[in-house]
Amino acid sequence: MIEFHKKWITNSCLIIKENCQKINMLDQEIGDGDHGTTILRGLEEAVSHFRANNEFDNSISFMNEISKLMRISMGGASGILMTIFFKELGNLNFNDLYNTILTTFSNTINKIETRGKVNFGDKSFLDIYVPIHQELIQNNLIDFDKLITKIDESLEYTKSLEARVGRAKFLDSKGVGVIDPGAYSTSIILKEFFKEINNEKNN
Ligand SMILES: [Mg+2]
Repeated sequence: MIEFHKKWITNSCLIIKENCQKINMLDQEIGDGDHGTTILRGLEEAVSHFRANNEFDNSISFMNEISKLMRISMGGASGILMTIFFKELGNLNFNDLYNTILTTFSNTINKIETRGKVNFGDKSFLDIYVPIHQELIQNNLIDFDKLITKIDESLEYTKSLEARVGRAKFLDSKGVGVIDPGAYSTSIILKEFFKEINNEKNN
């Protein structure tokens, strides 16, 4: 189980690295310009930690530790809010995959709403989690192709949203016309997650 988490985090780190400048550029338009660098720093911290240490009891304590290291190295609101999913994923169970994924998403969404005082439609990474959670419920199973399409559509949709959270809400444009950088990094992390789930299922 921990091997699943390691592969997912390693792959996410690679793709975030490839897209780091693009994410920073989006954040330069509507934020403080460093989101790509920040999320990459967190993921690289996680990867170097599990490459240097082999002793992990179970996925819950493993993901607790990983999310804590990421939270500290990223800092700020994104460190607190973007690591919630990582911590919740410690509870993933391949014997009850669909239900534990659903629980992971609903717990993640509730905690982001409460801790971040952010709602669906505010132009944030929650605008990825919520539609994917709904898609999972609607399909009643894990439909890989539909989920990837939904992630892409949801990301594109953040372009049209007016920001009600973060620095972008203070801009005259409210960030309209620009994809949300946090939603961008989240879309990568979730695509890599479902790719790895798909690989496991086909094994
Ligand atoms: Mg920042």
